[in-house]
Amino acid sequence: MEAAGFQCQCAGGLCGSQHAKSGLRCDRTATNHRLIVAPADLLLTPAAAAAVPAEQLLAWCSDCHKKALAQQRAADRERRRQSDPEPAALFDL
Ligand SMILES: [Zn+2]
Ligand SMILES: [Zn+2]
Repeated sequence: MEAAGFQCQCAGGLCGSQHAKSGLRCDRTATNHRLIVAPADLLLTPAAAAAVPAEQLLAWCSDCHKKALAQQRAADRERRRQSDPEPAALFDL
């Protein structure tokens, strides 16, 4: 968290906002907002997320965290829908 300068590390597009008004990085800091520490990949299981080295963790404000999670979930759903044209094949191994 100190490495992040107590500032949300969402930089341009992680949450769907480019943060163009604040130099392509979210300008929310721990002074005014509650920051969450989480890996950039928000879809990791809690166990996998716990194994991510500290230097790869990002500080998120709750707003960016919520939006980025929604974005990643939507992208993940879309990916699965496209790579899964034939569910029946699963039982055919
Ligand atoms: Zn933020
Ligand atoms: Zn953001």
